[in-house]
Amino acid sequence: MVQCIRCGENREGMAFQPFQNDIGRRAYEQICGVCWGEWLKFQQQLINHYGLNLREQQAKDFLYRHMEEFLFGGGAGQGGSGEGAA
Ligand SMILES: [Zn+2]
Repeated sequence: MVQCIRCGENREGMAFQPFQNDIGRRAYEQICGVCWGEWLKFQQQLINHYGLNLREQQAKDFLYRHMEEFLFGGGAGQGGSGEGAA
């Protein structure tokens, strides 16, 4: 089980780590299987819409960026607003 940082539920995680990199590990540890399924659907839409070729590094980088925003809300977590001068 994971406590999913996207939906906030305690749910079963995804079956395996999808990518052998940092975002793959974070997704595996912090995103539930349901939200992951939603991303996969959205990812397919992006691939179709932009005609992405996943053998190209550029296309992968594009998807990773969107994935991060979709799953983690665009890098919220460290830093962000709220600190700073009062
Ligand atoms: Zn979730």
